[in-house]
Amino acid sequence: MTPVKQKPIRPHRPIVSVAVALPVMDCYSYTVPDHLLALIRTGKRVLVPFGSRTVTGYLIGSSSEPDSTTLKHILDVLDDAPLFSSAMVPFFQWIATYYMYPLGQVISTALPAGLNLTDIAVMTLCPPGMAALTSDAVSPLEKTVLTALTKRPMDFRQLKKDVGQRVPWALIHQMRQRGWLVVERQIKGGQVRRKTIRMVRLAEGVAESGKISPQRQAILDLLRQQGGLSVPDLSKRVPTAASLVRAMQKAGMVRIEDHPVYRDPFGDPIDPDRPPVLTDEQAEAVNRMTPLLGKGFRTVLLAGVTGSGKTEVYLQLARQAVDRGLHVLVLVPEIALISQTERRFRARFGETVAVLHSGLSRGERYDQWLRVARGEAGIAIGARSCIFAPFETVGLIIVDEEHDAAYKQDGGLSYNARDLAVVRARHQNALAVLGSATPSVQSWHNVAIGKYSTVGLTRRVNRQPLPVIQTVDLSQIRDERGIRRYITPLLQQEIQKTLDDGHQTLIFLNRRGFSVFPICAHCGQPLRCKNCDISLTLHKQANAYRCHYCGFSRPATSTCPACGSDKIKLLGTGTEKIQEAMVQLFPQARVARMDRDTMTRKGSVVKLLKDLKNRNIDILVGTQMVAKGHDFPGITLVGVVCADLTLNFPDFRAGERTFQLLAQVAGRAGRGKQPGKVILQTFNPDHFSITAAKHQDFVTFFNQEIGFRQALGYPPFTRMIAVRLSGRDPRQTGIHARALGSACQDLLHPEGPFHRQVQVMGPIEAPLARIANQHRWQMLIKSPDTARLHRFVNQLMLGPNALPTRRDVRVTIDVDPFSL
Ligand code: ADP
Ligand code: ZN
Ligand code: ZN
Repeated sequence: MTPVKQKPIRPHRPIVSVAVALPVMDCYSYTVPDHLLALIRTGKRVLVPFGSRTVTGYLIGSSSEPDSTTLKHILDVLDDAPLFSSAMVPFFQWIATYYMYPLGQVISTALPAGLNLTDIAVMTLCPPGMAALTSDAVSPLEKTVLTALTKRPMDFRQLKKDVGQRVPWALIHQMRQRGWLVVERQIKGGQVRRKTIRMVRLAEGVAESGKISPQRQAILDLLRQQGGLSVPDLSKRVPTAASLVRAMQKAGMVRIEDHPVYRDPFGDPIDPDRPPVLTDEQAEAVNRMTPLLGKGFRTVLLAGVTGSGKTEVYLQLARQAVDRGLHVLVLVPEIALISQTERRFRARFGETVAVLHSGLSRGERYDQWLRVARGEAGIAIGARSCIFAPFETVGLIIVDEEHDAAYKQDGGLSYNARDLAVVRARHQNALAVLGSATPSVQSWHNVAIGKYSTVGLTRRVNRQPLPVIQTVDLSQIRDERGIRRYITPLLQQEIQKTLDDGHQTLIFLNRRGFSVFPICAHCGQPLRCKNCDISLTLHKQANAYRCHYCGFSRPATSTCPACGSDKIKLLGTGTEKIQEAMVQLFPQARVARMDRDTMTRKGSVVKLLKDLKNRNIDILVGTQMVAKGHDFPGITLVGVVCADLTLNFPDFRAGERTFQLLAQVAGRAGRGKQPGKVILQTFNPDHFSITAAKHQDFVTFFNQEIGFRQALGYPPFTRMIAVRLSGRDPRQTGIHARALGSACQDLLHPEGPFHRQVQVMGPIEAPLARIANQHRWQMLIKSPDTARLHRFVNQLMLGPNALPTRRDVRVTIDVDPFSL
């Protein structure tokens, strides 16, 4: 009888799944050593061996791997508390799959930057380590490490530099287990701690004895009156307080308490407000959406004309959600707008509001994130990255100005926060509310096919009619010269009238700088960027020609690089030239400008908006920054200098963008007691994007646009994925692009599943073929069938026959691209 071969009995070991923060698509399984078992929880970071390296990864759950024999161990658990809840894992996984981006890097993107970069492990030598130094049983490498640590505690990176050779983390781990050293996690740039000085009760006697120095006496008096005080506060009254309190602590007179505090991103406090009585339409909107709270996933499009009071609807709906114990996420497209929305929410909800956006310092952002993660905030407001706010669950997600292109992230994980809002709502059974006066074609299509429901606000709160829009045909302006071709007689007249009435004017031109097309008067060559295939822009204030793509700049005194002539004609008007013209034409007016050049400093937007509100500005010139969502009752006139700029973009959404931008900027007029007027100058007065914008009539616009989209096979009837290539060498980049192109053709063969189902356009050189000396190619892949499209690109990029990647050519995937 042959003995039955028995499987070796192995103790049951838990196996966990880890997403490493590296550009690899798969997750990896690791076993957990006994001493770390108690620390394991989804959402924490771990150190794991990966190839020959030690890398950080995220615990995303237990693994279904059946066999642990070949698996490696987790080396360490890095966090005391999870950074994300397990409820977020399916959301992250969805994002990784849909955007074809490594899960670990998706999670890194979702976490605040301060957290990822500044966490370090500091190693400190212990007495047994000291003793080991003299022992013979220590390996040379261990000895080197111990010697290095006798100098000072250091982190892993410093150690490797100090010893000048590779030190495996596993070795440190062993040394730690032997008790030779301790490893402490320090999050640099984490929460700040503040010291509070308190008087110790026993000091009462001393304080009244009069036997101490006058300064000490003063300190004790202050502490007795005020309870605890910080050293800076004490120092204001007793300049030497900092050194005194330490001595007083030793003498047992005071106690120094050390506790974490949140950095305050808000600045000035806000007076609470009382909710206004809603208009009938607003009340109807709130009443229709309230019953949907806590009842599972739904998406509602709130289509309300400009000034119809959408924000008030958000506020009252959020109140209903908060009262039901639900968390609320509010997305706003731009930082400039966040301050306005944030203030209105803080006035209504006070302390429970957290803000998350890039206008905050790293530390502030980290603290706000922590408040959300700890459940101390119930409402998070922010720009697109706020969609990752670490609420364990969320009940209501509001996306204001849902049509806005700023929700699309370009570069890195190229997600669309508006789309992710709907996805997160679905994962967490929440209500998603997308609001806009000019809903995107995509969203209105979803209403049309019954995927979303809709609620409308058709009238302005103040009962003012929508502004009257008068078009000026720029092609008819022949007799005027120079800037007067752009500030037409009618526009000039209307500005004068508005000034005379004491009202405010907004002048909109979607192009910054002074001259966007400087050209040599002698040889006719335009002044171009050295690194890009694009014309430079003259910025008078900065006294330089600048490239808007790579930042290249030359002095404003430059001569023509082709012929040396110093006669440069400054063609092409930008906001700076318009501002100058305004000052010349209306010398008595106070003129300001709002664009990316003037709004660089922190707080400059808030200050400018305050000046506008307080009527310290008569004429505001600006780019699309001024077009969005702001509410200024004093503005009665809006002038659109040239409505056609966005219309000529090589992008199938050009018409949609133009309609939205014009309708939005027109919507800034007449929001107060006075009716508004808009002068809209254009070379294409009959284009339907422009005529529809005149009436803020997005349904008419949609009905026409959707026909084009269908006829040409554009979204929402198809989905698109852009594959972009860039490289320093134009030839090699082209070769790789064409190789990828022919790989596409192979996949499209007539017997395959993609034939006639997937369409590949390109590869072609990008419209801007060179940016920052990178030569750019692109391919556009589209299909009416999303799943098939994704399978196609997956096979192309990651399948067994995928082209090997190259070091010299970067390939990126952009799912649902915005600019082509
Ligand atoms: P939208 O976002 O739709 O353009 P807002 O929400 O900014 O409009 O509202 C426009 C203005 O009307 C704001 O100043 C707001 O405070 C005010 N408002 C909104 N709803 C009411 C209301 N029910 N009663 C009085 N004022 C209101
Ligand atoms: Zn020249
Ligand atoms: Zn450039």
